[in-house]
Amino acid sequence: MRVLIERFIISSTPAWRVLLAVFASVPFFMIEFMVHGWGLAMPEIRAGLNPGVMWFLQGVFVLATVIEVSVALWLWPRRHQHDAVPRATLLVCLSIGLGYTTVTILAGMFTAAPNLILLGVLAIGLLLFERRPMLISYVVCVSMMAIYDAGSVAQWWPYAPALTPQVMQGREPVWWFAFWRQLVFVLGYAVLLSLLLLLFDRLDLLHAKLRRLSYTDGLTGLANRRRAMEVLNNEVARQARTGQTLALVLIDADHFKQVNDQYGHDMGDKVLRALGKLLMACVRSPTDVACRLGGEEFALILPDTRHEQVEAVCARLRQQLALQTFGEGDATFKVTLSMGVVEGSRQGAEQLLQLADHALYRAKSTGRDRVCMADSAMGVA
Ligand code: GH3
Ligand code: MG
Ligand code: MG
Repeated sequence: MRVLIERFIISSTPAWRVLLAVFASVPFFMIEFMVHGWGLAMPEIRAGLNPGVMWFLQGVFVLATVIEVSVALWLWPRRHQHDAVPRATLLVCLSIGLGYTTVTILAGMFTAAPNLILLGVLAIGLLLFERRPMLISYVVCVSMMAIYDAGSVAQWWPYAPALTPQVMQGREPVWWFAFWRQLVFVLGYAVLLSLLLLLFDRLDLLHAKLRRLSYTDGLTGLANRRRAMEVLNNEVARQARTGQTLALVLIDADHFKQVNDQYGHDMGDKVLRALGKLLMACVRSPTDVACRLGGEEFALILPDTRHEQVEAVCARLRQQLALQTFGEGDATFKVTLSMGVVEGSRQGAEQLLQLADHALYRAKSTGRDRVCMADSAMGVA
């Protein structure tokens, strides 16, 4: 459900979102209109209502519905257009907000409950996820309610003018009023709570997405340097507890500058993506982590891995890469890798990186396209 909503919010056009807000709110207005109409037709209920004010309220419902349906008809042919429709959004937000504000003011805060306003505004904000129209509607509606409230406290105008004193029998409300008040209250809270949960759910989803993005390299989809350092630090701490060995392989593409210079930056990116795929395929998931540290430098973090296993991974990587030819036609070329490997037992993350880097430097300086092992006894505390 949460994924469906998220997919809709991301993929829908602004017009679609406004249409959804219309579809969600018009039935509410129609139900209110019919219930009020029914109440006005029943003599017992009519006695508790102020017909003039109630008809005004019915007019507000009709007006809000007409505005929304007109916007919907105007938007329907434009529903696939991707450009924003800010005026239509504001119009729909305001008409929903003002519809509920009028009920709240005329029928009394305790019957329609301000939660309905909050609900309407929140629902639209949630669906559209646009702050501006939501904020404007919210400020207008809340100001109207506050002004009316202040005026009724000062006794400039009556509280809940849609109702007459006949809604009360002594200190108790009459049956239909008690029922209606409770129904609105419970429904309002149920919808409000669902929307809040939906909102938190969406924030949760966005948070997870951001976290994923902040750990991922955009070009290759591998873990990025930040993630690599986090994993390495965690694994070093775990290895200190368990006494297992941890292997770190630093990998650097040979003469990569030449690839860019001769075949173009796009081809360079293509090679980097292919290297990313290869690294991913050559390690055990989810225990091993393949990362791109930056540029044409990669790393493999291999927990609980023995010497022969690291050698096998590096050999597999070189073999697989040797099978690949990049470029097209006459302009084809091969790519080779230099690797520096360290098998840690008690070193810290920084020391491991340094040792692997030295080994990588040796691989480069002794001719490239090879794997060099660091002296793992070095740097042991
Ligand atoms: P060596 O064998 O000594 O490693 O030589 P090299 O040319 O690979 O080394 P150097 O570090 O001098 O060059 C790395 C090149 O990688 C430079 C830069 O143009 C290229 N590079 C870095 N990041 C990217 C990238 O995201 N995309 C592309 N296409 N090229 C990149
Ligand atoms: Mg480099
Ligand atoms: Mg290089």
